[in-house]
Parts: sequence; C-alpha cells; structure tokens
Amino acid sequence: MVSSRIILWLINCFSPISGIKYWTEAVISYVPKGCRYVSGFVPNLRYPKVYVVEENKYDKIRELMGAPNWVKAITKEDEIYILFGPENKRWKRILNHELFHAMVYIYLQSDKRIPAWFNEAIAYYVGKNYDVDPQMIAKYLEPHFPEIVEAVLADTVLDIDFYGCAVVKYIGRYLCVKYGKRKVKALIIAIKDGLTFEQAFKTIFGLNVEEVIKNWYYEEFGKR
Ligand SMILES: [Zn+2]
Repeated sequence: MVSSRIILWLINCFSPISGIKYWTEAVISYVPKGCRYVSGFVPNLRYPKVYVVEENKYDKIRELMGAPNWVKAITKEDEIYILFGPENKRWKRILNHELFHAMVYIYLQSDKRIPAWFNEAIAYYVGKNYDVDPQMIAKYLEPHFPEIVEAVLADTVLDIDFYGCAVVKYIGRYLCVKYGKRKVKALIIAIKDGLTFEQAFKTIFGLNVEEVIKNWYYEEFGKR
C-alpha cells in the first residue's frame, strides 16, 4: 500500500501549482533552523521575511531589485527573495548566507553600520561558500596586494569583481577560523552598543583591519 504521505508528495511534485507550495513549505520550515545556526554569528531578534518566488517571476524580481541575471537570492533589508527551486543542491547554504545579511539588518536596524566587505565575508563563511584556489589568489595578490588592502579599507574591494569576491571569501574564512564566530558576534553586538566598526574591530580582534589583512597574507602565503 502506498502511504498517503507519498501520494501527497507525488501530487506536489507534479502539479505546478502545489509544486511551488511544496517548495515554499520546505523553505519556510527550514528558516527557524537556519536562524538558529546563523545566530552563532549574529543575535537573532526575529525571523527575516522569506519569499519563495515562482520561476516565471525571477527576472521581474531581479529587474525590480537591480540585480544581475545570475543572482540566485536577493536580500533587501529584512526581506529575502529566493530565486531557485529544489533542484539547487546548495539551497540551505544559500539561504543561510542570506539569513545572515537579513539578521544583521534586523539587529543593527541598518546594513550600513558594518562595511559591505565584512558583511559579505562572514555571509560566505556562514553559507560554507569559501572554496578559493590559493595558488590563483597568490598569483593575483603578488602585484596587487597593496591595492587590495586599500580597497578593503575603502570598502570598494567587492567592486573588483571576481578577485575582489575571492579575496573577501578568503578573509572571511580566515577571520572565522582564526578568531571564531563568537568574536564575530561580539563585534556586531559592540556596534549595536554604540562603537563604530573600526572601534569594535580593534576592541574584539585586538588589531585593526589593516593589521589583520596583513597577518592573513603572511600566514596564508608567507608574504609581507
Ligand atoms: Zn551576500
């Protein structure tokens, strides 16, 4: 005998209308679990709003949000728009990445109180999206390291497209592995309590951003 649960699942998979319902329920029911995990990095005051978008509306949402066509999820303030379906095997990781952005926004009531590079660096780590080719990065940094330091300090590093993002991923992993997520969370709490990002960074990590990046470069690549 086929159980009613399996029949329901089959209906959900093959009917386009209930298919999105099934997928929406899967995503929504994961949100509390995802927030619990992400709360290791940023306090969780309340759940972000998560919208599961129907596939035929992906382009419309990207257009409205000014996002390029490869973007798989968009977070705007405390709202997350999911632009992928169950076929995306990394969906929980992508959602965790976006939950971090939204929870930072909710906690600090702004996404401007931490630099974009730091927000992205930690989100990549939270979403376990930190695989970068060390040799490729080493080769790139050899002539570009001083520029990269300047770009991180000016918070323009993400504008350096591919390599900027790769470096940010790498630094996020370094910070989280070397100092631990509790320090990341403590830094965000210190900002909420009134410190600037730079003051909080120095207080929690004991070094300023430039010193940490230079340590990262030395420890990862043996260069100064
Ligand atoms: Zn992001």
